[in-house]
Amino acid sequence: MLVVRHAVVGPFAENTWLLADPEAGEAAVLDPGGEAGRVLALAAPEGFRVTQVLATHGHVDHVFGADEICARTGAPFAMHDGDLPFLAALPAQAAGLGFGAARAPALARRLADGDPVRVGRREGRVLHTPGHSPGSVCLWFPEDRALFAGDTLFAGSVGRTDLPGGDGEALVRSIRERIFPLGDDVRFFPGHGPAGTLGEERRGNPFVGDRARGRFL
Ligand SMILES: [Zn+2]
Ligand SMILES: [Zn+2]
Repeated sequence: MLVVRHAVVGPFAENTWLLADPEAGEAAVLDPGGEAGRVLALAAPEGFRVTQVLATHGHVDHVFGADEICARTGAPFAMHDGDLPFLAALPAQAAGLGFGAARAPALARRLADGDPVRVGRREGRVLHTPGHSPGSVCLWFPEDRALFAGDTLFAGSVGRTDLPGGDGEALVRSIRERIFPLGDDVRFFPGHGPAGTLGEERRGNPFVGDRARGRFL
């Protein structure tokens, strides 16, 4: 079973997730928004080895800490290449938004739709879910019934689509056609705010739930 922990980091209260396979002693850090020491402390009790650093998308609140965590762990950084322009803009955006000085992480691996993401022996895969940004992805672990949703879907809300490259219609399609069909029982872990289940959102989300059809756009 995948072990899931998180720390809320940075000026935008972003959720950085630690995904670990306790049998293999391996972990991935997802969306390292900063505060590298607190994030790495999530892996400390069992001494999990952080072997990869992943991002659901390229916004500064999700990648600000990536370069430092990669440097401290030796782990490679992976993201969808649709958000590469945000990485290029990271140092300027970080300074302008109050994060402080930052270096963009080197992209060691490009995540594309359907690609496998393995954490130890836990098997996940990439779902490309554009809308919040062109390169937004979710990470889906079918056996663990767990979805890491980034800023695509929140408990009771959805990601904003007014930033560069945002697309409201694409966001609704991503959620209704790629995420909800995974199943009502699936737990989802978003980029901000509390975790929940897909069933709660399918039934009650005011933007994309069953009773919201047509209202979002
Ligand atoms: Zn975002
Ligand atoms: Zn965010």
